[in-house]
Amino acid sequence: MTLRILSTININYGTASLEAEAQCVVSTRQFLPEDHANFCRKIVSSPPTVRSADYNNRQAGGVKFMTASNWESARRNWTVTLMFALTAAVAVSVVPWYGISHGFHAAAWMWFALLLSANELAITCGYHRLFAHATYEARPALKVAYLLFGAMALQNSALVWSAGHRTHHRYIDDPERDPYCARRGFWFSHIGWMLRNYPSGDPDLSTVRDLQRDPWVMWQHRHYLPLTLIMNFGVPLLIGWASGDILGVFLLAGILRLVVSHHLTFCINSLAHIVGIQPYTDENTARDNAVVALLTFGEGYHNFHHMFAHDYRNGVRWWQWDPSKWFIYTMHWIGLTTDLKRVPWFKIRRALLDNQFRRAERQLARRTGGAQQIEQLRRRIAEEYETFCRAVTAWTQLRDQWLQETRRAMIERWERALLQSRFKELEYGLQLQSRRMRALSAQLG
Ligand SMILES: [Zn+2]
Ligand SMILES: [Zn+2]
Repeated sequence: MTLRILSTININYGTASLEAEAQCVVSTRQFLPEDHANFCRKIVSSPPTVRSADYNNRQAGGVKFMTASNWESARRNWTVTLMFALTAAVAVSVVPWYGISHGFHAAAWMWFALLLSANELAITCGYHRLFAHATYEARPALKVAYLLFGAMALQNSALVWSAGHRTHHRYIDDPERDPYCARRGFWFSHIGWMLRNYPSGDPDLSTVRDLQRDPWVMWQHRHYLPLTLIMNFGVPLLIGWASGDILGVFLLAGILRLVVSHHLTFCINSLAHIVGIQPYTDENTARDNAVVALLTFGEGYHNFHHMFAHDYRNGVRWWQWDPSKWFIYTMHWIGLTTDLKRVPWFKIRRALLDNQFRRAERQLARRTGGAQQIEQLRRRIAEEYETFCRAVTAWTQLRDQWLQETRRAMIERWERALLQSRFKELEYGLQLQSRRMRALSAQLG
């Protein structure tokens, strides 16, 4: 026998409301009220998705993927629109024309690949995994490299980028709060969100107080425009001049590199929220997609990332294509990165299983006919769930025990150190006393 618990939590939040629904299936043979309570607590303690009455009404009307047309009253950002339009126009017209009429040297293609990789790594390893999520620590030399090539990628300063990205994680899929909400359609989440001054795109700098204390991040933020101009015009023109092909290198390593780099990164906000699988959670639109990972230096494992954003890896398995995690790890080996954060494997497996249980329950609810077979399946799922709950409880207890032991070991170490220094103090006192006595006996003759 199984028992299905459905709980709706409704909290008033100013004029808006926060609504969360928690469901869990437990066996009546082992009813776990604390399990349900934990489940509800997890949902309540997770960052609130605050939705206005207008949004709730639209959802009630069955609108799933909305178009940007609803928000077109926002003022167009002409600077950004023209920048994207002009660079894309040159990339699809002048670049092929020059290639056909003059031809590009191998060196120009090499610089294209090198600068594109530098831009992508600066965004994925630097802007994303270091500045936005603090999944590891980096030495200043590496930070400066990230900030320079990040400025070259022309995606705003690390400070503004991180503020927008933290908001994206916090309010994921909320059309009014998530800056690049995938529910507003492919075009909006890919590029549309930058073409107009949408209120959802306003960076909330209160979310990046830690970065405001970083002198290097603030240096890049304050000098963003000159840095961008130097990196996008100065560097390709200088390389072109040095290699004797100014226009060829500028077209490939300057313009084409910028357009390709833009759209590869934008795929993370669009495709990685629309196409792919959801092994860890289906509570949001984030998806794992190996093809997107191939295009985005490993950022395509986005379902895992939205579940465990504090892990420095996105492709968590050793065989998953994630050059960004390999780069961070290599830098760690060289000594340029430290404190790489990894989620324990048990937590990853727990998330996978948790998601499988939810899916199985939905599949079971959809099944028709064969009442006996359904009941049998239901019982098996309930048994598996019990085993799962027991394993989670045992793991939590073991972890608490380990934490206590670590704490105790630390205290013991500290006490031992304290004792040793006290011993040394006493020994030194005796040494001084012996010197004093020698001086005294010398006086006594
Ligand atoms: Zn995302
Ligand atoms: Zn992220």
